[in-house]
Formats: sequence, C-alpha cells, structure tokens
Amino acid sequence: MINKDELKLLRAALQKLEAGFVDLPDFEPEFDVVAVTNVLDEVAERMQDNYPYFHPQYVGQMLKPPHPVARIAYAMSLWINPNNHALDGGRASSAMEKECIVELGAMFGWQNPLGHLTGGGTMANLEALWVAGRLHPGKRVIASKQAHYTHGRISEVLGVPFSPVPVNTDGRMDVAEIETLLQQGDVGTVVVTIGNTGLGAVDALPEILELRVKYDFRIHADAAYGGYFGLASKLDHHTARAYENLSQVDSIVIDPHKHGLQPYGCGCILFKDKGVGAFYKHDSPFTYFSSAELHLGEISLECSRPGASAVALWATQRLLPLKKAGEFAGNLDLCLDAARDFHDRLAASKNFTPLMPPELDIVVYAVNASTTTAASERARRLFHTAAKHDLHLALIELPVTLAGFWLPNIKIDSETITCLRSVLMKPEHAQWTERIVALLEACAD
Ligand SMILES: *Cc1c(COP(=O)(O)O)cnc(C)c1O
Repeated sequence: MINKDELKLLRAALQKLEAGFVDLPDFEPEFDVVAVTNVLDEVAERMQDNYPYFHPQYVGQMLKPPHPVARIAYAMSLWINPNNHALDGGRASSAMEKECIVELGAMFGWQNPLGHLTGGGTMANLEALWVAGRLHPGKRVIASKQAHYTHGRISEVLGVPFSPVPVNTDGRMDVAEIETLLQQGDVGTVVVTIGNTGLGAVDALPEILELRVKYDFRIHADAAYGGYFGLASKLDHHTARAYENLSQVDSIVIDPHKHGLQPYGCGCILFKDKGVGAFYKHDSPFTYFSSAELHLGEISLECSRPGASAVALWATQRLLPLKKAGEFAGNLDLCLDAARDFHDRLAASKNFTPLMPPELDIVVYAVNASTTTAASERARRLFHTAAKHDLHLALIELPVTLAGFWLPNIKIDSETITCLRSVLMKPEHAQWTERIVALLEACAD
C-alpha cells in the first residue's frame, strides 16, 4: 500500500542532483542518526492515527494521494529547499513554476496569463477577490450559497460587502437571483463555482456570461476542485458548456493539490489580463537583486513559497500532460464513471436515496427514513459504523429546500438534513463501487 520502491527512485534522483554541485569543497552536514531514528519511529507511530486517505475505501472528503512523481520530485527538491519568492532563492523552480502557469492557462484557453502558485485555493481566491476589489472599489462580491465558505470570510478580511446567492435544486447558483442582485447596481464581482465542494455542482456559466451584456461586473471562477475536469470527455451537456466558456472569465482559481495529484500546499491563481500585475507593485529592500527577470514575489501576496511545490507540479505535468484524451484526462473520466455508477447503485438500493445525479465526482445521498430528522440520525450513525468497518465517508448538512426535492417520500420535520457525501476522486474507485455499496448496505442494516 505504501510503495517503498519510490525510495530507490528518490535515491537515484538525489545522486543525479548532487552531481551538479561536485565542484564545491567537500561538506557533509551532520546529525545524530540514532536520535533522529528514534523520533521518526515515534512520528510513524503517531501517523498511524489517520484515516487511510490513499485507499479506495476512503471515500469521504476531497482527498487524493499525490502521484509518486510529485512526491519524489518534491522530496528531492527539499535537499535544495528553494524559495519561489525571488530568483535569488529559487532559480530552476521559479522557471518551472512559470512553465506550469503557461500550461495551466492553456488548459483554460488562455495564452500566457498572469499567475502563480499559492499555498492553496483560499489564498488564490483571496488574491482574485483583492484584485476584483481594486477594479470595482466599494462594490459587492456575490457567490453561491454552496460556494466555498471562505469567500464570505475573504470578503470580510478585504472589507468588501458580500452576498450569498440561493441555489436551485441542482445545487447551482440561481441565475434569476443573480440578476435581481445585479439590478441593485452595486455588484462588482460574481464568483462562479466550477464544481462546488459540497455537491460538485457546476454553476451555469454561459447564462451568467450573458448577463454581462446588460450589467458591468467581473467574473471570478472558483475552479479549485473542478478545474481539471475540462479535460474529461464524459461530461454531460450542461457541465461541458460551462467549461467551454471558462476562457471568458476574468480570473480562475485551480488547486493542483485537489485533482492535480499534488501534495498539500499547491493552489493557483490565473488572471486573463496581465495588466492586473500592476496592483501587486511593491519594493522589497532585500530581494530581487539577482536578475531583472520577473521574480514571482513581485506578482504574489505571499512572500516565501515552497519551490518544491513548483518542482513537483512541473514533474507531474511533464509525465502527465494536461491534454484532452491523455492519461491524466482518462483518469478524470474514470472518476466520473465511478460517481455515476455509485449514484445508480444507490438509486437501486432500499437503504439509500441519492440526490442530484453527479456532475463531477461527488455523490450526496440520504439514508432512507420516514422523516428528515430520522434520516439525519441514521446518516450520522452510519458514518461511524462504516468507519469501524474501514469504510470512510463524509457528512453534509443541507437545507431541506434543496435536499427535499430529491426525497419526495420523506416527511420534512427539520430545516436541514444530514446526508452522506462521497468524493470518488481516485480513478481506482471505478473498480470499487460494487464493494463499497455492498459494505454500505451491510452497515445500514
Ligand atoms: C477546496 C476549495 C477551496 C479552498 O481551497 P484550499 O486549497 O482548501 O484553501 C475553495 N473553493 C473550492 C471550490 C474548493 O473546493
């Protein structure tokens, strides 16, 4: 389950790396091998207290194991420990980051956008909304009620007014409600979620773009989770249209540490208009001396950032190019297959009722009961029972106005209902749905 062959590859890569520094006088950093061994022993034991995120029977939150090439490239680069703030701190890794940005931009149909990697999606969205606020000072940000919770909080940090927009029963932002808000005249930015975190629903981007004919507003696409699915070939019609129109938005966030096979600490912000780089302008008295070329710190809010993240992402995109019909895209199609198959199996079950058909690879399902309160209790109980049988799920609290539509036979006696939620984001899940549903059924009895 933990492939120790990766260590052989790491050793070989380190040997190759060291060959680039043989001109230096000999120098061997020292450490107490016995003491370190003892501590690592303790660490490994403590780390056993984790859910098995790497295993297909972990079918809960949005957690996907990094690709071995990412893990090894990341680890190897730690012997250099580059900092992508400035070229003074990370030369090759800064160049690799810029190449990754070009390729990520090309995936969305943008040639040479302004962009960089970030600590994660939250930081990337913060930069997007910060720039949006500079361009529409004092104006409101609006986002789906099912958008990531951080948008409201980021707006608070930035001191920008924020309004949530209700969703329809498909989990997508209600376009008529958006127009009502636009009519009030104080909306500067609409955040369109391309795959929301709870339900995997993709907001109706083409219809929202049409509103720009009548109203002046900026569109930021939060594709932190869903961004890569534009490469898949098995999207349904509505979903595919949203991706086809993504190049028309003003900024995009994508998280390589979600579906891009990267270790945590790898988000990305892209701006269509390179001109917004002017907002980042600042002077640092102690960096930016080694080169007149762009230092990534000149266009990002964070200062120090791990060059290792860029190295790992570059290695992954080298091995698995971001191409339609390529191996990476094929693996996304397997996740779509897994989610649809899982949904259909649940629909045929006596114990479960799935909500909306999955647009991406998230499936949300209720445990059958006569009332919403009883169904919530059953879901919470099943969550714990399943974990005892090594099946790991997630829970989601949804308003009955949304979930109730998919559960016509239930008596509504509460405002929200607790449902089970599974992200089938490992391609192996396509082979595991039958087993997972069988385990679920056994736990439900
Ligand atoms: C995960 C996620 C975020 C937050 O990203 P982090 O990398 O966890 O900071 C924002 N938006 C969406 C849609 C997400 O799925």
